Amino acid sequence: MRIVVQKFGGSSLSSPEKRKAVLERIRAAVDGGRKAVVVVSAMGRMGDEFATDSILGRLDSLVPEPLPEQRDLVASTGELYSLAAMSSLAVREGLRAAAFSGFDLPLITDCDFGDAAILGVGTLNLMRALRENDVVFVAGFQGVSREGFVTTLGRGGSDTTAAALASALGADCAEIYTDVDGVRTVDPRDYPEAPLISGLDYMEMGEMASEGAKVLHTRCVEIAERGGLDLFVRNSFSDAPGTIISSSSGSGRVVSGFIHRAGISDFCADYSLVNNAPKRQGALFEALADGGISLDMINVCGKRVFFSVSSSDSGPVKRYFSVSGIKYTETGGVAKISCVGSGMKGVPGVMASVFRVLSEAGVRVHRIVDSFINISFLISESDSGRALSALHGLLDADPADRKSSKL
Ligand code: ADP
Ligand code: MG
Repeated sequence: MRIVVQKFGGSSLSSPEKRKAVLERIRAAVDGGRKAVVVVSAMGRMGDEFATDSILGRLDSLVPEPLPEQRDLVASTGELYSLAAMSSLAVREGLRAAAFSGFDLPLITDCDFGDAAILGVGTLNLMRALRENDVVFVAGFQGVSREGFVTTLGRGGSDTTAAALASALGADCAEIYTDVDGVRTVDPRDYPEAPLISGLDYMEMGEMASEGAKVLHTRCVEIAERGGLDLFVRNSFSDAPGTIISSSSGSGRVVSGFIHRAGISDFCADYSLVNNAPKRQGALFEALADGGISLDMINVCGKRVFFSVSSSDSGPVKRYFSVSGIKYTETGGVAKISCVGSGMKGVPGVMASVFRVLSEAGVRVHRIVDSFINISFLISESDSGRALSALHGLLDADPADRKSSKL
């Protein structure tokens, strides 16, 4: 039995015409002699009636802080509407189809409500249904904990459902269909001219996803890497090849892609007048972690501590410093741009190139950190457009010409 796993995102299911077109794509796979496992997300985008945020908004209007397990139970219903709509449509259109929620499957997860991780996938029901049908629909984004609670996998979690199913079924790839033609060098909403990347390796795609490139869920890439699964990111409504992510599909460039995130506040705390600074600095990190505040771009330089947070978290950070009597400065209105690429490992001069083009474009770099495949820097939000355009100018250069400060 040849099995293909296809996942369709919410924006690909948001109208009757789109659902019909998606069904035709599924039919093409079936006509080609394959059995299709089709993972569906909640229909539409933010603000649409059946989108997860709208469903949760309705719950929040009923009760201010619903219990986490109840919130997940309600959050999981968005995908159930898609499951019902798509499987009913498929049967009506003459396909033999079955449908499973994450809890009927079951897809077993830990109990981290809202961001649950997959622990295992039951394939017995799925295999039986596949033998008897052409297509088996599965609700993405949801699972069930060992204790029997319905859980959800976090934003983008349906991508992860698809990778986990493909891996459990021994399929050699998972096809992720979405509203863009593949992975571009940066989110086209930030920079519409961003070119398509034809191939990426797992490490660089994983890094891009964890820096916030929402086109794929980070855990989806991790599962694919573990199982040696090829991932294809394609447009639901075109036959273009899209982007392949596999161990051997590196882009061949020093930098493959960029991630842009706005809405950041950068802090510098000064512990020079404080006794036992290391202990107090440790206490800072613990207090912020206890408050559920995620820190980024951390750097401890002698008695000074630098870090950035999402601007929505800056209030509690300032309160902490005020209560603890620590002097600090905050720079708001900051954006982070990350340059990611497996090709930068051990290649000298990448930082020099980035700095040069940014300064030529008149962009002042506020702070910079790097790891072996990532250079990330903070700039003023108002410089983001110019910075992205300058960095893309480097990508246009000949990738083989690494010595002449090209990317
Ligand atoms: P879906 O509902 O299909 O899962 P998502 O919104 O989760 O769709 O992912 C697709 C979106 O990801 C695109 O519309 C695009 O704005 C965004 N995106 C972010 N980074 C990238 C990137 N590097 N390449 C392509 N799309 C990206
Ligand atoms: Mg998505």
